[in-house]
Amino acid sequence: MSLPYDAPVSQTLFDRASLVTPGGVNSPVRAFKAVGGTPRFMVSGTGPYLTDADGREYVDLVCSWGPMILGHAHPEVVAAVQEAVARGTSFGTPGEGEVALAEEIVARIDPVEQVRLVSSGTEATMSAIRLARGFTGRAKVIKFAGCYHGHVDALLAAAGSGLATFALPDTPGVTGAQAGDTIVLPYNDLDAVHAAFHAHPGEIACVITEASPGNMGVVPPGEGFNAGLKAACAKNGALYISDEVMTGFRTSKAGWYGIDGVKPDLMTFGKVMGGGFPAAAFGGRKDVMEHLAPVGPVYQAGTLSGNPVATAAGLAQLRLLDDAAYEKVDAVSAEIQGLMTGALTKEGVAHRLQTASNMFSVFFTPDEVRNYDDARKQESFRFTAFFHSMLSQGVYLPPSAFESYFVSTAHDAQAVERIAAALPAAARAAAEATA
Ligand code: PLP
Repeated sequence: MSLPYDAPVSQTLFDRASLVTPGGVNSPVRAFKAVGGTPRFMVSGTGPYLTDADGREYVDLVCSWGPMILGHAHPEVVAAVQEAVARGTSFGTPGEGEVALAEEIVARIDPVEQVRLVSSGTEATMSAIRLARGFTGRAKVIKFAGCYHGHVDALLAAAGSGLATFALPDTPGVTGAQAGDTIVLPYNDLDAVHAAFHAHPGEIACVITEASPGNMGVVPPGEGFNAGLKAACAKNGALYISDEVMTGFRTSKAGWYGIDGVKPDLMTFGKVMGGGFPAAAFGGRKDVMEHLAPVGPVYQAGTLSGNPVATAAGLAQLRLLDDAAYEKVDAVSAEIQGLMTGALTKEGVAHRLQTASNMFSVFFTPDEVRNYDDARKQESFRFTAFFHSMLSQGVYLPPSAFESYFVSTAHDAQAVERIAAALPAAARAAAEATA
């Protein structure tokens, strides 16, 4: 397909990057492989806007894949970072910032009695799985097709996100032994969960699920699904792990837990809690968490865990996220959702808007998407046309049809107006697209 415009400076940077970095990017979905064209190299961000190396400004509907819920370069977050960085960037000792961030998480999320800080969501889920195995003395893990929990070896089976984009069923480099204890089930299918527990009595350490999946696009849990998982785990002596790396502190003050109230044994967090820095966490029941070193035998560690700059950023961001902030993000998200579905409907484009509070996706299919197979039935070529039209008009969407869109408190009337202005042409492009 011919693209509406080029980006010469980004192209030059991408060419340089491709010589020294595989595919020119440090995380696959940034490469625009699913949509084609040149990935935009960003040089700055302010509020709801990003500016690329060619000097073009975009309304950002990715928000760094979730973390920037206050928009880019929020003055109070920047000030907290500047203040922290001037005091030193890493001590390799405990510090007050990590205590304060842990206290904030424990105060917001009831089921989290204790928490351990790490540097990425991947580390959080990897550590939670190890802890669940160490606690239960069991090996097997249930995960769901289309749920992405980071690039943990054992969890890279039928994962979503970049893997959904590239339709890789699996990845070379993960051995049979590493994935052999992973049971992959269809999402939103409690019967399959009961059958797995029945087939493997006393062998399943945990069920890990995205609290409300966003990595196959937004596919919220059906009524009673999470509660059913929790009950099945409790009945069979397994732990229920809710991965809130994406939804945590985003879908509400207490994340998805604040919406469905189903109490996990362990939870994982990342993205928003780091304020744009590498900070993540896992936490939950005290009796389970106390199996971690140095109290218990399950080893887990990190040179930069609880980094003072990252914790200062995370804490500043969380403290600004009060009820009013969530009301604002939810409201602007609803407005943008309405504009998108309105424009697509007007052009007769079959689509399905799915939401999980302020997270949302547009699937190019008329049918409800309840699992990964449903998501893959969409007409992704329509998304490609939609994406490039929006990009050419200065709106940055996630470069894949299998991702959530994210907004922030900084998305104001002017940003919404720019989106509204871009949508009619983008909807027309989607309507006219051919496979
Ligand atoms: N879990 C979920 C639900 C995620 O969405 C992600 C990343 O998108 C991860 C885990 C991995 O986090 P990270 O990319 O920080 O390793």
